[in-house]
This record gives sequence, structure tokens and C-alpha cells, in this order.
Amino acid sequence: MATDPVLVVHGGAWAMPDDMVEAHLHGVNNALAAGWRVLDRGGSSLDAVEEAVVVMEDDETFDAGRGSFLNRDGKVQLDALIMDGATLRAGGVGCVERLRNPVRAARKILSESPHVYFVAEGAERFAEEHGIALCKNEDLIISREVERLREYQAELARREADGSTPNGNDLFAPHISHDTVGAVALDRNGNIAAATSTGGTLNKAPGRLGDSSLIGCGCYADNLSAAASTTGWGEPIMKLVLAKWTADRISAGNMPEWSAQEAMNYLQQRVNGHGGIIVLSPDGHFGIAHNTPRMAWAYQNMRKKDAGVERLAP
Ligand code: ASP
Repeated sequence: MATDPVLVVHGGAWAMPDDMVEAHLHGVNNALAAGWRVLDRGGSSLDAVEEAVVVMEDDETFDAGRGSFLNRDGKVQLDALIMDGATLRAGGVGCVERLRNPVRAARKILSESPHVYFVAEGAERFAEEHGIALCKNEDLIISREVERLREYQAELARREADGSTPNGNDLFAPHISHDTVGAVALDRNGNIAAATSTGGTLNKAPGRLGDSSLIGCGCYADNLSAAASTTGWGEPIMKLVLAKWTADRISAGNMPEWSAQEAMNYLQQRVNGHGGIIVLSPDGHFGIAHNTPRMAWAYQNMRKKDAGVERLAP
């Protein structure tokens, strides 16, 4: 029996200022259109989430692909994961520096490798051997991010000098941008999939891996529970294995809307984390929740299409 397709995408959860709302809405709508084209012609949820995420990786608005945050050394270091709910196959890359679209490499791993996860040069070598062209790290860096890193490091030095943030971990935490991107989809065959892609956090230590590309943390998909993609401060999210935690609530019989909100409550209460989540069950219900002031989201099903940055009305 054919299922009605559903696609939900996000472009990060944070205190997004008013003057950045339009660019984010534009970006998530473009991603939605690309993913929906796949689902509408009967394509797979896996292809749909990949295409949606590629659009946001290519859009400099987001912290994914070109235009991502810079790490402490001034380099872009990217992480991505894609997961197929029908087979539980997954592909992840971490700390890659020469891939424009890390989700494409993640998809190659899912489809063509017996392994699940590759990092750094090994991931780049795998991608190249499987027909993905490498770029230079400089091709991923834009001047906005060079300036942002410079300002951040200057502020960090000032605060460390006066002793106000000894380790700098939560510098500007509620306002710091979390522009990670992600998508969850349900296709006409009833299969769900999820993908998440990120440049991680600003000024991160080289080699630091966040939640986004870790199975069950920033991304998860299982036809027996749900597909989920998270964004936000990665360290708290990964401690709670939050995407899987949320999927488990759904397989226990809870609605995605409730489960997404519960995930945010749990994140806040248990580890004082902040972020957002999109989650979709195989019966087509979905939830969008964040405990940050805003999150860029968009969804489409056979009845409706919408996008926003404020809390989705129940
Ligand atoms: N969760 C990502 C990370 O910690 C960042 C983000 O969502 O913006 O790497």
C-alpha cells in the first residue's frame, strides 16, 4: 500500500536575529523543494534527505559545507551522517576538510562500504575513490566566518584575562549560532530516513567531533520507531544520545510532537543543554521542537507546506 510522503527539514536552532530570518527561511524552503521533488516522483526517503541537505550545505547561510564555522585553527572541519530506516544502514564522516558536500560522502559509505564511519583523510580518500572530487579547505571558508572567529577569539581572550569564563565553553551560549542542517523523510514505500550535516561549533578544537554525525545523537532512523535530526550544543546532546532517546519514546507509543518536546525538556533539565529536533514516525506524524528562541524549519506533506522560525503551533 502506498504511503503519503512527508518531508521535514531544519536549518539550526538558536537566538537567530531578525535580520537573518529571511535567509534561513529561503534556505530551508529551497531544501524542502529539492527533497520534495524526489519524494513526489516516487523516489526514496534516503535520496530525499540527501538532496535536501546538499542544498543547505551549498547555502552559505548555514553551518554546513561552505560557509561553516571555523575551528580554533581557522579551518573548516565538517561532520555528516545519513541513515536508512528500512535497513538501518548508515554512513558517517567526521572531521573532513576537503569535501563540499559531506552528506554525499556519507551516502557513498552507506551504499558502498561495509563500514559505517570514516574520519579525516581516510574519509576524504574513500570519497575520492568513489568519484567525489575533493576541494581545498580554503574553498569552504568565507570572509564572514574569518571575521566571526577573530571577534570570538578576541572576546574569549578578554574574558579569560578578567577571569569571567575560565574555559570559554559557554561563551555567549544562548546566542551562539547553531546552523547545523538536517532532514527527515517518509517515502511512498513507507520507509523513513534521516540526515544531518554540520561544521560543528565555532572555535572548536581541531579533531573535535560533535553530536551531528554520531548515530543516535544528531541523527537516527529506524522504520520501527522514527527518523530524527537534532541541532544545538553538541556535547550535551551526545551525552543523552538524544535522537535515539526520542525515537524510543515514539516506539513506546508516544506521538512525535510530544516526544520532540519531551526531548527538549530532558536536554534542558538533565544537562542544561539547548537545541532543537525534528522527528518523523513511519505513519507520517512529525514533531518540531526547540528550547532556543528560534529554529529554522520547513515541512511538506500531501495536505500542507509551511516554514518558520518560531515555535510550531500544536
Ligand atoms: N550540534 C552541532 C555540533 O555540536 C552544532 C549545531 O547544531 O549547530 O557540532
